[in-house]
Amino acid sequence: MAFQIAEYHSIKKELESYQAQLIAVSKKKPIEDILEAIDTGQKNFGENYVQELVEKESHFKGNVNWHFIGHLQSNKVKMIAPFVTLIQGVDSFKLLQEINKEGKKIDKVIDCLLQVHIAQEETKFGFSEEEVESLLLFPELVEMENIKIKGLMGMASFSSDTSLLKKEFSSLKKLFDNSKLMSLEPDAFDTLSIGMSSDYKIALDCGSTMIRIGSTLFGERN
Ligand SMILES: *Cc1c(COP(=O)(O)O)cnc(C)c1O
Repeated sequence: MAFQIAEYHSIKKELESYQAQLIAVSKKKPIEDILEAIDTGQKNFGENYVQELVEKESHFKGNVNWHFIGHLQSNKVKMIAPFVTLIQGVDSFKLLQEINKEGKKIDKVIDCLLQVHIAQEETKFGFSEEEVESLLLFPELVEMENIKIKGLMGMASFSSDTSLLKKEFSSLKKLFDNSKLMSLEPDAFDTLSIGMSSDYKIALDCGSTMIRIGSTLFGERN
């Protein structure tokens, strides 16, 4: 299946009344689909797997902003550090330290989002709300000059229960507002990445500033 141009324009139109950015999630999709998306005007893409991202990046050489949205292992940070725009799935302090270390080596400040575990499912990675708040107060953060914590990322439960999704997104929005005040650079703490193909409308109404859309734009994945 190719890039869904009509869907793309309709989502972009919906976004006009919100201050939110669209990340096109291209994981497991071929280069040709990404090219079509670029030709249509899309610049920000999300990928979940380091190997796949590194391979794709080599095709585009700086024309694309890459967001890493998957679970990142510490030993793979160096493979994406030089070119990544935003690491969205930071789920441990150890990983944050590793990103800072790699950033230092290449003299780059790497933007990060802390992933928060809001869903019911046990398997999802991320910090609890309490862990986010205590992490933001770690004195070590002051010295970590090669990372910038830009905000939070979360996934809601896999459910069609609108009121549950609303409840989860709203609690993340509340945590986001509190965390912003606790952040070392409140003005730079401006990104709440919530909302996927099935739930982005609810996420936008709950305060999302960044939606991550895969299957609606590129078709179902195998
Ligand atoms: C795959 C993925 C998406 C996109 O999901 P769709 O339901 O296809 O829109 C968004 N965020 C994360 C973290 C993902 O892994």
